[in-house]
Amino acid sequence: MNLDELYEHMGKWRSFVRKHNANIFDVMFKDVDYWLSEDELLTIISEVSHFFKLTLPDIKTHCDVLAKLEINANNDTGPELFYNWRLLQSAGINNVDAFTLCMVHELAHLYFQGTRFLLCRSERWCHELAADYVVGAYSAWKGISTGKYKYVVKQLQMTPTHPKGEHRTDAVEFSYECVLKYAWNDINSSLKGLPAFVYAKQRQLNEEFAKCIREIEFNIDTDSTSKRISIEELPDDNLVKQYVLKYKNI
Ligand SMILES: [Zn+2]
Repeated sequence: MNLDELYEHMGKWRSFVRKHNANIFDVMFKDVDYWLSEDELLTIISEVSHFFKLTLPDIKTHCDVLAKLEINANNDTGPELFYNWRLLQSAGINNVDAFTLCMVHELAHLYFQGTRFLLCRSERWCHELAADYVVGAYSAWKGISTGKYKYVVKQLQMTPTHPKGEHRTDAVEFSYECVLKYAWNDINSSLKGLPAFVYAKQRQLNEEFAKCIREIEFNIDTDSTSKRISIEELPDDNLVKQYVLKYKNI
């Protein structure tokens, strides 16, 4: 082995060692795939879609958030997968592995469409945790780095639709460890571990969800003059109103 080969070997080793590190320096400056083209991103989405045995959704490359999946409840159009590559990169989703896991999360929502987990008070939160649980399993099966994905997700605050990022990264790490430990080799067998994960956090999740809903009821300001929204005055199909009225007495 000559000196160049040795340095290359050392570089690959360092890259391997930091695969699951979620610190800002490694995330923003190491292992960045600067020149990923739109075609390469589409190839990644196709591969993930194939993994789930899903028909490729309609891909939209403009998005006001990092990425999202929209399923039309009326079924008059198919599902649409949105992502904003520029936003993703600036957040830290800046290489093939991180983008792949992001797409695994979104397409897991499509895979779980119609599934009722019933593991904690908020079914929406449960679906988010299930999608991140699959992210962890997928990374174990494919040998994919989780550091950048975990770094970005961990910073996210809880909302009526998403539990706080810390729980989500815990789901990634839990399923990653379980898949390696128990040799579960497909999604259905790996899901055996999901109830154990959610039940261990169930009380905390339920309390945080109730707190989140109460905060919406009492703290939303409509503008800088701090005028309060009256929940009762919102239209009946408003999701926030539905959540608050359903859980206000918890
Ligand atoms: Zn999600």
